[in-house]
Amino acid sequence: MAIFDRAIVRLLPAVPRPVVQKLSERYIAGPELKDAREAVRRINAEGRVATIDVLGEEITTEEEAAAIVRAYQDVFADIERCGLDSNVSVKLTALGLKLGHDLCRDNLRTVVEDAGSRGNFVRIDMEDSSTTDDTLRLYRELREEGHVNLGVVLQAMLRRTLTDIDALADLKPSVRLCKGIYVEPPEIAYQDYEAVRAAFVRALESLLAAGCYVGIATHDDWLLREGRRLVVEHGLGRDEYEFQMLLGVRAELGDELVVEGHRLRIYVPFGRHWYAYSLRRLQENPKIAGYIAADTLGRLFGRNGA
Ligand SMILES: Cc1cc2nc3c(=O)[nH]c(=O)nc-3n(C[C@H](O)[C@H](O)[C@H](O)COP(=O)(O)OP(=O)(O)OC[C@H]3O[C@@H](n4cnc5c(N)ncnc54)[C@H](O)[C@@H]3O)c2cc1C
Repeated sequence: MAIFDRAIVRLLPAVPRPVVQKLSERYIAGPELKDAREAVRRINAEGRVATIDVLGEEITTEEEAAAIVRAYQDVFADIERCGLDSNVSVKLTALGLKLGHDLCRDNLRTVVEDAGSRGNFVRIDMEDSSTTDDTLRLYRELREEGHVNLGVVLQAMLRRTLTDIDALADLKPSVRLCKGIYVEPPEIAYQDYEAVRAAFVRALESLLAAGCYVGIATHDDWLLREGRRLVVEHGLGRDEYEFQMLLGVRAELGDELVVEGHRLRIYVPFGRHWYAYSLRRLQENPKIAGYIAADTLGRLFGRNGA
């Protein structure tokens, strides 16, 4: 990313919320469950499957965490009622991770049990490195309780990831592998673009060698090619891996994967806590500097003219 773009990205938190909301509309289904339902219907009609995320990492109270749990229960009921092909993704902070380990485990268990009773599946997103240990611990605890309908995410950028793959191997986890979006210090995370790519490939090789089901989550052409190469090399059938992409990002790449016969899952976030998620997506949009400049100019001239 050019220096100018990086400067704009650092300024994103200073951009007025309504501007952030407008710029990030394409990444979020909308505020309500019906918005997610419509997005998933469209996605399914295009031959893709989905994972629905109830936005909520900004919550600060037990009551809010309980509301997120209820929202997931509504999501499962809706998926079943409408015959949607979708599982869910959860952020442990939205289920109360920062409020207490036991509280979060109870909330996660409620969500996972509800999913299990309806034959559905829950994937725990991975957040910043302050949550990695707790997330992997909770994942193991729930799996050891017998909840097989639970997956996790690993971030290629973290130096620890290969070790984490080894440590999880006995559970044969279902893993979404992504680069990792959170800004982490060089001691714990690769900073260089090519180093992250190389680490992604190493982690993918290691997961496939361990017989794990992997969701290859990327919009990076080079990694998509490597992913295709590795699933062929490992002789995997269509049901033994999947590709994953985010709503609103490089849909044309998804078309290629679907035409080639790969399973593609689209991440569909919805809800009222849209701000933190939107900032992360905008920070990765290579055109963000141009959008913000255009919006700022538009507002300046709009005001002059009004
Ligand atoms: C399904 C899914 C789930 C994820 N879950 C997590 C998670 O749990 N934890 C986590 O830390 N990260 C998660 N991520 C984010 C991931 O870690 C990366 O930050 C993100 O996918 C961008 O990396 P990339 O591999 O697409 O490569 P990049 O090099 O960042 O992107 C490749 C190309 O895609 C395009 N692109 C990427 N992002 C955008 C955007 N926002 N707007 C417009 N164009 C864009 C650009 O053209 C870019 O050149 C997830 C990603 C996906 C696809």
